[in-house]
Amino acid sequence: MLSVEEALQRIRGIARLTEAEAVPVEACAGRTLADRLITATLDVPPFANSAMDGYAVRASETPGQLRVVGEAVAGARSVPPVGIGEAVRIMTGAPLPDGADAVVPVEGTTDLPDGSVRLLAAVPDQHVRVAGHDTRRGERVELPAAPLTPGSLALLTSLGLGEVTVRRHPRVAILSTGDELVAPGAPLGPGQIHDANTASLAASVLEAGGVPLVLPRAPDDPATIDALLHRAAAEADLLVASGGVSMGRTDHVRDAIRRLGAIDFWRIRVQPGKPLAFGTVGARPALGLPGNPVSALVTFELFVRPLIRAMLGLPGDGRLHLAARLEGPIPKDPDRRAYVRVVLRGEAAGFSARSAGGQGSAQLRGMGQANALLVIPEGEPAGVVGATYDAIVIGEIG
Ligand code: AMP
Ligand code: MG
Repeated sequence: MLSVEEALQRIRGIARLTEAEAVPVEACAGRTLADRLITATLDVPPFANSAMDGYAVRASETPGQLRVVGEAVAGARSVPPVGIGEAVRIMTGAPLPDGADAVVPVEGTTDLPDGSVRLLAAVPDQHVRVAGHDTRRGERVELPAAPLTPGSLALLTSLGLGEVTVRRHPRVAILSTGDELVAPGAPLGPGQIHDANTASLAASVLEAGGVPLVLPRAPDDPATIDALLHRAAAEADLLVASGGVSMGRTDHVRDAIRRLGAIDFWRIRVQPGKPLAFGTVGARPALGLPGNPVSALVTFELFVRPLIRAMLGLPGDGRLHLAARLEGPIPKDPDRRAYVRVVLRGEAAGFSARSAGGQGSAQLRGMGQANALLVIPEGEPAGVVGATYDAIVIGEIG
């Protein structure tokens, strides 16, 4: 059985970048740049302008009394110049008039009845944004290796870009298998349960930067599973099935991947999620996640999320990792690395973690409450109270 690292290395090893496409910046929320080095097409800001509402003046003429000869507003095509003994009323963002080298904020001025203005003190600050003071035309700006943030999008527009080149979202086929599965909310017949994995895995795909292609739920029937995976391989960049990868007579997903392509490995020293199967269907990576809903989510987190990110050219899992102190004991299999569902809290002394609920791989109470997975290493028989472990933050810390 492979370790988590060995498995991840093999999975990431076959990731292929999705192609790059030009997209308007205003439609790039959540997208990832294909090239993080951006060249400014103009000076930022493009012209000298006022940082305050006030009066544009010659700094050497302050404090004093100046004649107001006109007004400069943001967006003005031309503004009156400032001569000796003169001031121009100016708004934030308006071009700085010729002759002026400073702006005195309104707060430091008094309008006089004769149409002049008194400037109460010498200017300690120019309040002028010089052309190119943020970025120079032709300068190369490196953006973070992460999906574009609102701040990055604003930066791109200021650098003069209307369109940027981003990676296509990887299309991830989601296939839930099992004779027992029915749609969420549907009445349950004898022996039936609601399909939890389609909803949770589709949401995980979106969160990781992919687009889910949800396939119809499949019964434990080899021909149906083959047909669905075969068809999905033509449309999707990555195939993710759940269920049917263990040792049961009705477990057909591993054989389906083998029939349609090849199995690279099966089973990992991880708890939950041991029976994970990985292979290829045609050129597409294909993962058979265990059907238990907690196992499916944990293995998605550990293996599918980094794979989707690798297809976007992004490193790692993109998660915050924290050291957290365990508040209560949590039993585990000594031979496997455990990822236990915890609720993380920040305290003055650091982060603490308590079990989010039952740790069984079918128990969704804890999974639904957890905001972190606490990593308890292989070799340890249990999570020890008071010991500090690595926590992978998967939700908000309240
Ligand atoms: P399997 O991996 O097919 O052996 O399934 C293991 C356990 O997970 C069984 O109890 C299944 O009923 C359950 N299971 C499989 N798929 C799902 C699903 N999509 N939603 C909820 N439970 C599931
Ligand atoms: Mg099954």
